[in-house]
Amino acid sequence: MTQDGTDLLSQVFGFDTFRPGQAEIVRAVASGQDVLAIMPTGGGKSLCFQLPALMRDGVTVVISPLIALMRDQVRGLKELGVEAGALTSGNTEEETNAVWQGLHAGSLKLLYIAPERLASSGTERMLRDAGVGLIAVDEAHCVSQWGHDFRPDYLRIGALRRALDVPLAAFTATADAETRAEIIVRLFGEADPQVFLRGFDRPNLSLAFEVKNQPRRQILDFAAARKGQSGIVYCGTRAKTETIAAALREEGHSACHYHGGMEADDRRHVEGRFAQEDGLIVVATVAFGMGVDKPDIRWVAHADLPKSIEAYYQEIGRAGRDGAPADTLTLYGADDIRFRRQQIDEGLAPPERRSADHGRLNALLGLAEALGCRRQVLLGYFGEAAEPCGNCDLCDAPPEVFDASTAVQKALSAMLRTGESFGAGHLIDILTGRATDKVRQRGHDSLPTFGVGTEFDAKGWQAVFRQMSAHDLMRPDPDRHGALRMTEAARPILRGEAGISFRKDTMAATRHRPEARALVAEEDAPLLAALKAKRRALAEEARVPAYVIFTDRTLIEMAETRPQTLDALARVSGVGAKKLDRYGAAFLEIITGDAPDAVHPARRKLAGRAAGDLFDRLLAVQQDLSRGEDGTGKYLSCTHSTLKQIAERRPSCKDSLERITGMGAQKVDRFGDAFLDVLRDAG
Ligand code: ADP
Ligand code: ZN
Repeated sequence: MTQDGTDLLSQVFGFDTFRPGQAEIVRAVASGQDVLAIMPTGGGKSLCFQLPALMRDGVTVVISPLIALMRDQVRGLKELGVEAGALTSGNTEEETNAVWQGLHAGSLKLLYIAPERLASSGTERMLRDAGVGLIAVDEAHCVSQWGHDFRPDYLRIGALRRALDVPLAAFTATADAETRAEIIVRLFGEADPQVFLRGFDRPNLSLAFEVKNQPRRQILDFAAARKGQSGIVYCGTRAKTETIAAALREEGHSACHYHGGMEADDRRHVEGRFAQEDGLIVVATVAFGMGVDKPDIRWVAHADLPKSIEAYYQEIGRAGRDGAPADTLTLYGADDIRFRRQQIDEGLAPPERRSADHGRLNALLGLAEALGCRRQVLLGYFGEAAEPCGNCDLCDAPPEVFDASTAVQKALSAMLRTGESFGAGHLIDILTGRATDKVRQRGHDSLPTFGVGTEFDAKGWQAVFRQMSAHDLMRPDPDRHGALRMTEAARPILRGEAGISFRKDTMAATRHRPEARALVAEEDAPLLAALKAKRRALAEEARVPAYVIFTDRTLIEMAETRPQTLDALARVSGVGAKKLDRYGAAFLEIITGDAPDAVHPARRKLAGRAAGDLFDRLLAVQQDLSRGEDGTGKYLSCTHSTLKQIAERRPSCKDSLERITGMGAQKVDRFGDAFLDVLRDAG
């Protein structure tokens, strides 16, 4: 066994390589250091405690906020042949008994517990008796009082760590510095964890923003181009989740809505369907989130602007966790910006928090109005440098920009001359010279700014105002509903000390129907469809979600590389020993078009390993010699499991060869030299 866990990585999990950042984290956790790892959603956090759990003695306790999430992980681990269990309120008595048995026998490697359990007095004693060697905390930001995922029971984890006196590894996808500091204080106290923060890029996610113009149509078009693929549409309001879901169904999609106002049972029903079904669209508020770890979500669309760049990143990050291509689209407009600002201003957070929230919203708006590669802007926010990505709408079609300094000055002057007391509509009337009743009543038709903005029509000015908001040149005044105020950031532009560029192409309404994106090349599509059908059949039979069998990414690799043997199949990412054993033959049959040669189970266990090759050569040698050198001797052969052991243990002399079960002196006499030759050749 290697120190870095790569053996287990390929044997148990079926992955050839670590994802960026995983190797260091696994090494640190496995060696017993306290760790806080901030990794993007879909970056592969679970592996960073699951693998060390297998490398370390004793049981690893995993604290995770959601029962559904725990059950999924336990199920996934069992599929991989790992002993794992959960103690949650949702357990059947049978499940709970099995967990206790595993604990007593010392065979359980991962024990998932719900945070509520920490409140019960017996838990600490139980864990101490169980020989816990490591605590892993998933979604560690739940300990932060300021996040919307706050879980009071998470505050007990620090005490548990001190009581058990074992290393703790905490994981989260939330990046901002305040939350990070809070996690460290609350979970680690005086201990000083090693912090890993990196790898925010999710290159398989395509990024796109569109200004709202016919928002419902925009969402429907986006979904139409991805028909049959699982997706999420995030909406700002509960009511909208219902209307968009209905509109999607009308266009022939399988879609349902989800929001926090629904009965718990109904919500669970949707969660269950989403996990289980291929190609369901869930139209939801952000209440649909943390519990979603379906790896094959192929797209996420925002029908409304998220509240911050972190929220955006987390929400789009739910797509494409399996690493296969996934698309995202975020719609926004002036109303969204106003709504989000007001939400922050009217919230209960203390002032410094509020100003940080405005900053996070600004970062998102900067991304929305970006003039170059969106990924560069997004990663730049997380402190990572990157090249233009080639996988965002702005890389596809670089935006047209214009010098907006004069337009901005005119707008600011209209705002200032009317006492910063009006909203965009009235200011645009003034700029375009529309003498409405309101304009005349206030005498605004005699202002010097009246009618100076003839270069744009009202729609054009709305786009200017939207971009001004997005660049935080003005904000709605929380004390005067809807009234726009200039910000400090605008002053240099007003004075002519600084210029600013805006996008021209988003000024007029243009619509381009997004093209459908295929997951594989045309020639591989029929095979991928056949593999998916097989997966669905197996999933239904086993009553598990399709991805529990294999993820999309694994099927895509199968369709593209078309392995012809079990050994080749074992090299496909996501095909571990257990799954190869269970499903390999079925999928190979789809790929090769006929039933594979029957493979002895002992040989199947070696598939994809160097020992598999050795086994084949030993088998060939033994067949040649089964009646001796001259072909006239008594028939002798070794069993498959004997050959398997030889291939695995690689004895170097006849004595040790003879000690292998099933060999014996006679067989050593017959095959010994030839076997040892094979083993020597293999180095
Ligand atoms: P998150 O960080 O969001 O918790 P998960 O742990 O659920 O992400 O991992 C996301 C997906 O990536 C899962 O399907 C997992 O099996 C897969 N994965 C994790 N590590 C690797 C790896 N080294 N190679 C390939 N796939 C991986
Ligand atoms: Zn790009």
